[in-house]
Amino acid sequence: MKVLVVGNGGREHALVWKIKQSSLVKEVYCASGNAGIGKIAKRVNISPTDIYNLVRFAKENKIDLTVVGPEQPLSEGIVDRFNEEGLKIFGHQKSAAILEASKVFAKNLMKKYGIPTAKFESFEKEEDAIKFIKEVGAPIVIKADGLAAGKGVVVAKTEEEAIQAVKDMFAGKFGPASKRVVIEEFLEGEEASYICFVKDDKLAPMPTSQDHKRAYDNDEGPNTGGMGAYSPCSLITPEMEKEIQERIMYPTLKAMINEGRSMCGFLYAGLMIGPKGINVLEFNVRMGDPETQPIMRRLQSDLVEHILEILEGNIENVKPKWNPDYAIGVVMASKGYPDAYEKGKVITGIEEAEKDPDVVVFHAGTEEVDGKIITNGGRVLTVTATGEDIFKAREKVYSAIEKIHFEGAFYRKDIGFREVNRKKE
Ligand code: ATP
Repeated sequence: MKVLVVGNGGREHALVWKIKQSSLVKEVYCASGNAGIGKIAKRVNISPTDIYNLVRFAKENKIDLTVVGPEQPLSEGIVDRFNEEGLKIFGHQKSAAILEASKVFAKNLMKKYGIPTAKFESFEKEEDAIKFIKEVGAPIVIKADGLAAGKGVVVAKTEEEAIQAVKDMFAGKFGPASKRVVIEEFLEGEEASYICFVKDDKLAPMPTSQDHKRAYDNDEGPNTGGMGAYSPCSLITPEMEKEIQERIMYPTLKAMINEGRSMCGFLYAGLMIGPKGINVLEFNVRMGDPETQPIMRRLQSDLVEHILEILEGNIENVKPKWNPDYAIGVVMASKGYPDAYEKGKVITGIEEAEKDPDVVVFHAGTEEVDGKIITNGGRVLTVTATGEDIFKAREKVYSAIEKIHFEGAFYRKDIGFREVNRKKE
């Protein structure tokens, strides 16, 4: 069969890489991909949000299955349009994608159905928001309602910082995404990610993972799209996993059905685990980037088979097989990221790094020009490695990274440090 993957980041490279291994698949296409994806799949020069042309392409090329990577096309209704044309596609309809696309929606849903999350209020007027901040005090968290590519959240240590964030948002910092804001209680603890395949009221879980959102070592610096991840994350014990399913994932699926917004696709819960128990920080309606990269490295069974079973309504038959080893992914970024950065730097050493059979390099912001791979984004590569424990996986990933060069490259040297500390104890 022919499969089309929509998206162009590290997550999509990992999905394409895995889909390519399926015995059911003859050809993989990716719109619009990157240099790494171009080496294993046919790139299609259509933007992930150009739904009209994606439909046209899928029809003309008799695509049997489309898999959507990022949230934007989902919340713009790509699945609804493909379904109308009788095209098979894996992802949520627009009505369900709102769980990620509107934080006000997600928070109200959690409140209504008793799903554990930080206390909050939502606001449409600056003065009401400021009054609330003065009442509650800092630390406090300010969130733009809509999609802001991971940048719409300010964890304010002081009242002044919180008030400034509110002013910026109502002044239109994120356009329509910040016409409404959520202000919520600051939660202490450690974060982890829990991702499942979901369909209606059923799910098939993926293994636990943990992202590292801050730009620099020791969780310092600005928030980013994610600087590295590993799987499994032993912060989530088997008992906690049961609790996450019973108190968060299943109730959310049922709540969405109740609201006439049943789900089909990936469901990602960003969790805060601390003195107040397990709380949901956010839901995403797609896989995480970079969590996908280590998770796909661990998937031993056929992703396409699983997706087809789910689309047939047989999610109970989906029993993915996972490699018990650890997998880790470290993001190599362009100097300046997450702010302004330069593009067009030549990347060398990827082949050298991949000589280790346990290493796979996934591309994000890369392009191929005159036979050379050059940087073309803030996050450039996710270098992944597997190993029988977190120590071995880490050793391998960092020795692979040392072989890769481009001007201004930077990466965190401490990805997985919390797991390392847990395992040392
Ligand atoms: P993403 O890039 O994951 O889509 P997002 O913009 O949807 O991010 P959130 O995940 O809601 O935003 O928040 C971003 C980060 O801010 C979280 O990973 C967490 O570190 C921090 N954060 C969010 N809410 C809280 C909270 N209530 N208490 C403490 N920290 C929080």
